[in-house]
Amino acid sequence: MVLAVTFIFSGYVKAIDPLGTQYKIQDYLQALGLQSFVPDWLSLLTSIGLAALEFCLGVFILFAIQRRLISKLILAFMSIMTLLTLWLALANPIKDCGCFGDAVHLTNLQTLLKNIILLLCAITTWKWPLRMIRFISKSNQWIAINFTILYILISSIYSLYKLPPFDFRPYHIGANIKKGMEMPAGAKMPRFTTTFTLEKNGKTKDFTLDNYPDSTWKFINSKTVQTEEGYVPPIHDFSIQDIKSGEDITQKVLSDKDYTFLLVSPHLDQADDTNFGDIDQIYEYAQSEHIPFYCLTASDESAIQRWIDLTGAEYSFCTTDETTLKTIIRSNPGLILLKNGTVINKWSHNDLPKGKELNAHINQLEIGKTPINNIPGKILKIILWFILPLFILTLADRIWAWSQWFRKKKRKRKENISTLKKENKMRKKIVAGNWKMNMNLQDGVALAKEINETLKADKPNCGVIICTPFIHLASVAQVLDSEVVGLGAENCADKEKGAYTGEVSAEMVKSTGAQYVILGHSERRQYYNETAETLKDKTLLALKNGLKVIFCCGETLEEREANKQNEVVKAELKDAVFNLTAEEWKNIILAYEPIWAIGTGKTATSDQAEEMLAYIRSIVADKYGKEVAEDTTILYGGSCKASNAQELFSKPDIDGGLIGGASLKAADFKGIIDAWKK
Ligand code: PEP
Repeated sequence: MVLAVTFIFSGYVKAIDPLGTQYKIQDYLQALGLQSFVPDWLSLLTSIGLAALEFCLGVFILFAIQRRLISKLILAFMSIMTLLTLWLALANPIKDCGCFGDAVHLTNLQTLLKNIILLLCAITTWKWPLRMIRFISKSNQWIAINFTILYILISSIYSLYKLPPFDFRPYHIGANIKKGMEMPAGAKMPRFTTTFTLEKNGKTKDFTLDNYPDSTWKFINSKTVQTEEGYVPPIHDFSIQDIKSGEDITQKVLSDKDYTFLLVSPHLDQADDTNFGDIDQIYEYAQSEHIPFYCLTASDESAIQRWIDLTGAEYSFCTTDETTLKTIIRSNPGLILLKNGTVINKWSHNDLPKGKELNAHINQLEIGKTPINNIPGKILKIILWFILPLFILTLADRIWAWSQWFRKKKRKRKENISTLKKENKMRKKIVAGNWKMNMNLQDGVALAKEINETLKADKPNCGVIICTPFIHLASVAQVLDSEVVGLGAENCADKEKGAYTGEVSAEMVKSTGAQYVILGHSERRQYYNETAETLKDKTLLALKNGLKVIFCCGETLEEREANKQNEVVKAELKDAVFNLTAEEWKNIILAYEPIWAIGTGKTATSDQAEEMLAYIRSIVADKYGKEVAEDTTILYGGSCKASNAQELFSKPDIDGGLIGGASLKAADFKGIIDAWKK
């Protein structure tokens, strides 16, 4: 805040007085002996650029725009300025550093102290730039950046064209020059020496008032410097010397009860002559109204003559100190109107009263009256042109940012929910086919091949298993890429080995290359009287032989109608697989298959299926704990097809499907597998 306010204030007061800042830069250049190397246009550009830079840095740091870059730039700026003011404090080459233009005058020591404080602030912001709170979001900062640069440059150019809107100098409109020159009673007088540079026979020499030579010497220049400390009134070097008569007419001009026009030009050879027609018209008007009109300049004779030749000037030329003239008005030339020593009005050469306005005695004209110095009005203009748009931008940006934030928060919440859902589904998703007693060997191998190729070409988003009759296993294993499609049997014996004609053991299944086996399918329970007891043995043997078990459970229609589904399913699991250890459980995949939905075309609704699977998960949790239950893959089976798979799989507890009929055609099976991609 300290940096921002200081930079904005000092940048602004300099920006609205580009000529004043240019004069100060020229003072520095002179102190360094560099003035002759830097043309006026360059020092003026530097003045505008430097003030704009300072102002912009202040605004940017206030709004925390480009925090890291701006804090580095401010630190670099303050480091250079502190070194410069250290030199000023030690060597005292210039009385006032000019850091606040004419608005606030500081001694060199005060400036050094101020800069040390600002340097400390700059180090702080450079060290912790990200602690500054952004008022405008990053994506909209470019608007504030361009607007600020544009505003300050336009302010500078406007002030250069017209006059500075705020005049902090002792010659401002309404100021009485005589009063400004007064010494308070008893105040110690400082001493000033005016040096006159004159020329004779090609030789230039400096004189003071004490040894001023005769008129054979030609006046070149004059400079007044303070040689002894004392009370210095705000106006201390104002004098008017008529060049023609050599007479000091200061008192005459300041005491004139009536109006006096003073055309002010520190250097006539550098004066803008584009508006000389307006000047001449004002002079003619002054003549007709008997108003004295003088041109005050610090120029030499040749420059005055050149001006006369160029503009046809007929008015009197007077000598005044160059610095005084530059202080009176920031325009070369500029015009001031005095009355009884008071500055009634001031005009830049671009803004002079026009001939047609001068149609009455000056008393009756607007230009003859002191315009009201409406400071609140001027501040209101700054508010309307700069602060208000920036405020509106900030407000709009905040509303935009908040709405973005809310939207982001909402999206995040949604994402969290879906991540949660996904996390629930972090357990393996599986689509397993159950060929049942279908397909001869050749057709089976061909189907397995087709499924394998299809899935290799378009990788599935889930695990895929095909469970085939025993006779297919070994051949199908040859054509499957086990990384893409797993292989399982539809059953295995409840005995390890021996005289059990027609049976196939778990070990035999494993030896074909299969990794899975379906156990407890309702058709086996129904047609082959498989009981919980035999299933218990089969499961243990399968696990022992390194097979993973897809264990089926499910109720009949009657049982569902009697609302006994939970009870039935729980009993099926409890009696056949809940004897397993947690370690063994890791190789169990459950499949809920309501018998009334198998091969009937009747599907349990997704809500019915979800309800049952959630229940199964809860009883697994009761037995093995919540974590194990969360990791258990539970499939739904029963007339699952491509058209209903997506809806079923979207349920949080359904981890895939066990597919009968629809697994006999590669395209149908693939359609179900692809439900995991939607
Ligand atoms: C099955 O037999 O496991 C099964 C679910 O069959 P379908 O998909 O034909 O109903």
